[in-house]
Amino acid sequence: MKLYPLIADNWKMDGGVAFGVVPKSIWSRLRKSDENNMIDITTRCLLIVHNERKILIDTGLGDKRNEKYYAVRFREPGINILKSLEMEGFSADEITDVLFTHLHDDHVGAATRINKAGSLECVFGNAHYWVSSSHWEWAMNPNKREGAAFFKDNLLPLHESGLLHLLEEGMQPFEQITLKIFNGHTRGQIIPYIHTYNQTVVYLGDFIPTQSNIPIPFIPSVDIEPLVSLMEKEQFLNEAAENQYVLFFEHDTLNECCTVMQTEKGVVARQSYKLDEIIYNSDESN
Ligand SMILES: [Zn+2]
Repeated sequence: MKLYPLIADNWKMDGGVAFGVVPKSIWSRLRKSDENNMIDITTRCLLIVHNERKILIDTGLGDKRNEKYYAVRFREPGINILKSLEMEGFSADEITDVLFTHLHDDHVGAATRINKAGSLECVFGNAHYWVSSSHWEWAMNPNKREGAAFFKDNLLPLHESGLLHLLEEGMQPFEQITLKIFNGHTRGQIIPYIHTYNQTVVYLGDFIPTQSNIPIPFIPSVDIEPLVSLMEKEQFLNEAAENQYVLFFEHDTLNECCTVMQTEKGVVARQSYKLDEIIYNSDESN
């Protein structure tokens, strides 16, 4: 198994949104913000190459929207998932599976594009697409608070491809990857636990988007059920400390991953790493 972290977007998010009820006087010790109160964010996808499969987790914003859409997100130009794949020697057509943690636009947008004929098409033409069935239902019938993150043109081409698979809780379609479902950020977010040769790497999606979100109350204001997030986080972090999981951050510009430890003040980050410093990438099938 080999793992490749891939940057899909570098962009910015409002610091207040990122840390919810935590006041700026506290979160600003962890994250610098600019004159608009925006903090740097990345979208770090993960390619898992294992046996015959090339599984991509999440895809980034994509390039099919107007300038204003990218301008309000302060997206850095010139970076996308296809370029990052290419830099590691992979093409879109080689991807066998795309697993979406969930379908907010910054996770799913780059899976579809507008072709030269002006119609929508899937970018990963040979891939099977995977998302939880509870989240698919949620995204297709969006509530008004979360609706701005769900776009029908991000979703319908996946359905029309005939290659979209809706996962029920407990279904495990991938060897050496355990999928778990979390509901605090949005309904039915999938969090993959990837069992490598020497470590379990947990791809945290929007569950714990950055290392600065590890303290229990540091829950983004976009979470639909913050008290559910709080409970899920507390339970997960205890388990992560006990089992020495590698926490892989999708949105942390500064830290790719870390391990955690139990202290008198609760679970805290122990050490930050680049993924290739902590896992053993193997050409063998294990
Ligand atoms: Zn999200």
